[in-house]
Parts: sequence; C-alpha cells; structure tokens
Amino acid sequence: MAHQFHLYNSLTRKKEPVEPLEEGHLRFYSCGPTVYSYAHIGNFRSFITADLIFRTAKKMRWKVTYATNITDVGHLTDDDLADTSGEDRMVQALQSKEGERFANIWDLARYYTVILQEDWMSLNLLEPTVRPRASEHMREQIIAVEQMLESGNAYETSNTVYFSVPSFPAYGRLSGNEAAEDLEQAVRDVVQDPEKKDPRDFALWKKDDSHLMQWHSPWGWGFPGWHLECSVMAQSYLGEEIDIHAGGEDLIFPHHECEIAQTECITGKTFARKWVHTRFLQVEGKKMSKSAGNFFTVRDLVLPKSEGGRGIDPLAVRMTLLSGHYRKPFNFTFDTLKTNIRHRERFEDTIALAEKGLDNGGDGADELGDVLNALSDRTFKAMLDDLNTPEALAATFEATKAVLSHEQLSKGSAASVKSWLDHTNDLLGIVYAHTPRAMEDGDDSFATEIDALVAARTRAREENDYARADEIRDELTALDVEVMDTPGGPRWKRRSALL
Ligand SMILES: [Zn+2]
Repeated sequence: MAHQFHLYNSLTRKKEPVEPLEEGHLRFYSCGPTVYSYAHIGNFRSFITADLIFRTAKKMRWKVTYATNITDVGHLTDDDLADTSGEDRMVQALQSKEGERFANIWDLARYYTVILQEDWMSLNLLEPTVRPRASEHMREQIIAVEQMLESGNAYETSNTVYFSVPSFPAYGRLSGNEAAEDLEQAVRDVVQDPEKKDPRDFALWKKDDSHLMQWHSPWGWGFPGWHLECSVMAQSYLGEEIDIHAGGEDLIFPHHECEIAQTECITGKTFARKWVHTRFLQVEGKKMSKSAGNFFTVRDLVLPKSEGGRGIDPLAVRMTLLSGHYRKPFNFTFDTLKTNIRHRERFEDTIALAEKGLDNGGDGADELGDVLNALSDRTFKAMLDDLNTPEALAATFEATKAVLSHEQLSKGSAASVKSWLDHTNDLLGIVYAHTPRAMEDGDDSFATEIDALVAARTRAREENDYARADEIRDELTALDVEVMDTPGGPRWKRRSALL
C-alpha cells in the first residue's frame, strides 16, 4: 500500500492526511527569524520541524516548493500584541552594546542573516527552495495594502493604515476566539492611537519618516506591519492557496491570524490548508532567559571552545532537539545532550565500520540487510505519522546497536549499512555533518599535531617509558582529545566540552 503522510492541523485540531492541492507537488511556507540577534535553540526547534516536513515530503517523492523568510524589516516589540507599537527590535539591537560594531542597520541585518545561514547549515537543515527577504518585497507589500484599502478591509488614520478586523469575521478561528477577546483587553492597555476604530485592528503600514528603515508609499514614508511580509511572500512564491504553513506556537496569535485575514481578504480563497505549530522549548525545566543563565544560541553550543562556544557536535544538538515530539513542550537538558553526543559517536563508529567493510570486507553473507530494512521502514513510518521523531530515533539506535555488535562487516553487510545511513540521513539529517563545526579547529594543522603526539606516546610505550606516555596522555586530555587503544592501533577523537 502506498504511504500516506499525516500531520496535525492546528486549524481543525485533527491529524489529517497531507494531500497537496496539485498532485505530487507540496507547497509550504514556514515563518523565519527576525535577524536582529543570534538565533537560539528554541528558534531552531521550529525551523527543524519545517525541515522535517521538507525531508519527509521529499521521501514521498513529491516535488516540494518550500519558502521560509528572513524578517529584515522592523519587527516591533509589541507586534506580538497585534498592535504594531513599541520599539523596533532591529533598531534596539543597533543601539545596544553588540550593535556598536555595525556601520548601520542594513549592515546589522546582513550580518545576522549570514550567521543564521551558517547555523542553519551546521544543524544540517536543508536549504529551502527560496529564502525571501521582507526588505526585497516592499512593492508587493504596498500593493497588498492598496488592495485591502480598495476592498474596504483597511482604513487610513493620520499615522497608520490599519486592517479592519470586524471586516473579516473569521478572524480568531485559528487561535480560538477566547484568545482574541483576551487580546482586546491586553491591547486596550497599550494602544496609543485614538483614531483606531477597533482595538483588534492591526497595522498594515506605519507612517514614520524618521525611522531608520523606511520606504516611500502612497501614504508617505514609512514601513510595513510585520504580519504583511509573510502574506505577500507566500503568495509570490507559492500561489494564492498553499498546502502547509508552519511556525512556532507563539506565532499563532496574532501573527498567523493576521496573515490569514490579509491573504484571504485579497484572494477570497483559503490561505493555508494546514497549519503546523511547534510547541515551546524550555531549558532544564525553565523558560529560557539570559538572566536565568539558561539561554543558549546555537553558536553558544557548537562553536569551538577557542571561539567561545562549547565545541559540541552540532548533530548531537540536532538529535537532542529531535528527541521530543514537536507538538509537546520540550525540555532541553544537558543530560539529554550528553546521551545524544554518545549516540552521535555510535553513528561515527558505524560509518567507520561500514567504510572499512566496503574497502576490505570479505565476500561473506549480508547479515544486516533484513534487519536494517525493517528499521528504515520503521523510521519512515514514524515520520509519516505526524513527524514522530522519538520513535524514528529509537529505530536508528536499534540499528547502530545491531551494526556495532559486529567487529567487522562483509562487503554485502557494509553496503546495507551504507544505504541505511543514507536513508536515515535523508529523513532525519543526523548522520553526515554538513560543516563539522566542532571539528573545525581540528583542521589539518590540529590533526597533524595530535597525530604526532599520539605517535610519540606509542613510541614511549614501546620503549617502556610509561611516565612519558602518561605525560603525553595528559597533554592530549588538555586538548580535549581522547585516545583509545584498539587492536588496530591507537585511535583518537575529540571529546566534547561537556563530557
Ligand atoms: Zn510569518
């Protein structure tokens, strides 16, 4: 029987089959970051959910058009209240201590965009089909505002163009109306504009000719409301109706509710057929915050120690993020991370064993093909079932256990292991490092230095100079290198800073 891919739809609150509008072609959008600082592991938990949808859909042999944006235009601190008031996060960042190194706000946006893409690669997320930037779609945003004014879904005041929420009765359907009513109260407390007709109305265009990022529009100089960019970019790259829209649960209200209202008023069609939301992440059981000391950017974990990071294998971080289901709140702990660093080492050992078997294994029987095929299938089925990553990972751990119970592999078994590794990497992205950041300062000169120390230690032992051999081992330990004496001679690997 053909496989079917199921995802939980936040709009209907049901798990449903994914059936692309155009057969065999999935079109989906996932909200990207605002580039005013380094992305943290919570941001990446929801980017990884989108990455897993992308990977699973590709395994279904669908064509996938996947767009995820870069917000490089003011995202205001109170946009989360659907009010477009408060301070601009990017301007705030420029005026902070960190911001002193940037020539201007465009420079800051460019810098954090580059870093975002580096983190994206290091955690092994696939490049989306398109990564549009809000700043490069200003014309479309202005046209969208004009359309909403024309259709009577928007109105202009002396300093803002607002979307009129009462003109769109379905507003609040995604999040539940209770939240909308709570919000009315919340917004009433912060709202500044007496010309606003309904407290729920949100800004489409903010007139401000003193803002650091401003564009010319029919309503004078200013900048767009944050919610608008996703509406127009999804429409530009994916069409009027899309199959899936994803994002973090904090975006359900108001961001996604506002996106729906804007797009559906313009097109008259259903915007996204499915909404997929990733629950929040905590660290060591607490909300992540800088003051609590449990706030981690991706770089804090994966950069080499010499660059201020902890030198952790990025794929162990990814595996840790996969160890909880995206629809459950996730508690990121260093214990889980340590466990996954060991799992990753087992993957490395499995790769090494397979390579050795492919190079010089015998012609013996393929002892692993059947068991690995069954486990591949189990992983794929788990992913098809609403991205059940804990189950998918469990199957991979059984597989490494089965492989590593062998001291050596025949060529046939090694080929089966290799194809299992490829399949697992396609689906979960946890096998082959894209940029082995933690290993980066293990560049050639580092490796040469370690090789020389390991050889010196071997010589000292051969000459029964155990004091010298121990001294060298201490030196290696100080460099975070662990030496294992194996029948084939000593092997070394870098220890993560955590262990
Ligand atoms: Zn968005």
